[in-house]
Amino acid sequence: MKKETSKKTLKKGGLRQPPKKSEASEFGGGKKGVLVCLKCKAVYKNKSWHHKEKYTNKEIKEMGGAKPYKCPACIRKESDTCEGFLILKNVPKDKEKEILALVKNVGEKAEMTDVLDRIIKLKKSRDGIEIETTENQLAVKLGKQIKSAFKGKLEIHWSHTDGPVRVLWTAF
Ligand SMILES: [Zn+2]
Repeated sequence: MKKETSKKTLKKGGLRQPPKKSEASEFGGGKKGVLVCLKCKAVYKNKSWHHKEKYTNKEIKEMGGAKPYKCPACIRKESDTCEGFLILKNVPKDKEKEILALVKNVGEKAEMTDVLDRIIKLKKSRDGIEIETTENQLAVKLGKQIKSAFKGKLEIHWSHTDGPVRVLWTAF
């Protein structure tokens, strides 16, 4: 959670905060239009972010046009801050492809349900496969699904501060 985010606008880790006050009042004050994320094209309307597929260019035009903005998920990705951190250890070579396919699948489903619920990073390091998610629940879900499909050991460490949840899966 970012420190500069004001408490009033915080909801679920600050991910759904409305635009900054100045922009919000300008936005809500008679001017029509929607915010469109510069990166992923997600659309902010009715106080939440929606999939770009929900609106056609024509509809956005009719609503008053698009204002360029950045959605909280893209901001997280750029600033390298996540709510969920998952690490997969000792991944057997012969299972790696399957495990990565599962991760991708679960990530895509989450994003389909909530445009801001995403995997923002997936990389191999010396420690294993590292995955970062915008929402803590997604990291937990990934860990649980991997455990149920591939057994192994799962540890979930919730942060006592506002840090990300750390999920550790180790293959046997
Ligand atoms: Zn975005």
